[in-house]
Amino acid sequence: MTAKPYDAVIVGGGPAGLGAALYLGRSCRSVALVDSGDARNMAAGVMHNVVTNDGVSIGDFRARARAEISRYGVEFLDDEVVSVAPEGDLVVTTAKGAGELRSRTVLYAAGVRSRLPGLPGVAELWGKGVHECPYCHAYELRGGSLAVYGGGVPSECLAATLTAWTPSITYLSDGRDLPAEEREYLDAAGVPTLDDKVLGVTRLADGVGVELADGHTLSFTAMFLHLETEPRVGPLRPWLQADDLVSVQTDDRGRTSLPRLYVAGDLGRGMQQAAMAAASGGLAAMAVNADLIREDRPGSLYPLPR
Ligand SMILES: Cc1cc2nc3c(=O)[nH]c(=O)nc-3n(C[C@H](O)[C@H](O)[C@H](O)COP(=O)(O)OP(=O)(O)OC[C@H]3O[C@@H](n4cnc5c(N)ncnc54)[C@H](O)[C@@H]3O)c2cc1C
Repeated sequence: MTAKPYDAVIVGGGPAGLGAALYLGRSCRSVALVDSGDARNMAAGVMHNVVTNDGVSIGDFRARARAEISRYGVEFLDDEVVSVAPEGDLVVTTAKGAGELRSRTVLYAAGVRSRLPGLPGVAELWGKGVHECPYCHAYELRGGSLAVYGGGVPSECLAATLTAWTPSITYLSDGRDLPAEEREYLDAAGVPTLDDKVLGVTRLADGVGVELADGHTLSFTAMFLHLETEPRVGPLRPWLQADDLVSVQTDDRGRTSLPRLYVAGDLGRGMQQAAMAAASGGLAAMAVNADLIREDRPGSLYPLPR
């Protein structure tokens, strides 16, 4: 006998997937959440700006969330999803260990990966001396001296934003020829630029060292930089033909133009923050629930705008 399909399979157990699981579990839906456990923010160890959970360890947040959500019958699988594909009126999610899971909907919340620059030392210090998000990390560094690395992705807005936490900011162009507009923004923010080539960043007892090509090492409390990200959508190929899920997201509830596929968290349109990810998981879960009611009781809910 074939097992009854789940109402929803959630891919990803970060704030977005967990937020969705809580809503769907409490909507009496049958749900499996599959998570491979390598979240984007794991390098930082703790997370800030989540009300009642400010500064909590990410492992602790996830464990407590799972314990809460388990009360509503949601199944958790520590596994890696390798493919998600439509099959008639269902979607088949295939995980490395668990094999095929059939469901009426899939809520995809697998997050994005930060693309670190090749600058030596950045990967080692990522989340612990080298950061991207001022709202997540700058309070603990307030009043310190900060380097903003602008040698890769232009980061003049990041430098200006950081002036809320400290007046001592140096923009490292790493020899990149900065366009006039970028320099104008930096001037307006009162942030000086250092144009020397940067060889790498190292850990110091009280901060980070920036090694310059002329042999000098400058010390800072921490370094910030703006990064590009990659959507973690590999398992959706070839079903998803677009580059990302943002371009196929059709509303602010996480519906996509692919039937029965919903998106939440960093992969969607919202700000890439934990609380926003959790909220978007809740929104997408409500869309899933409403669309299942539409399917089971045609005419009972207002139709979706085309
Ligand atoms: C270093 C760092 C620090 C940060 N600090 C903060 C902070 O303090 N406060 C804040 O609000 N935001 C912070 N952020 C941003 C925050 O981490 C993200 O906005 C948030 O985690 C997004 O949640 P998500 O659920 O969309 O994705 P994620 O948290 O990345 O979770 C996605 C989950 O999906 C799983 N997954 C991916 N692919 C698969 C697959 N194929 N099969 C199964 N599972 C899969 C991953 O293992 C992961 O557990 C930080 C980001 C970084 C990079």
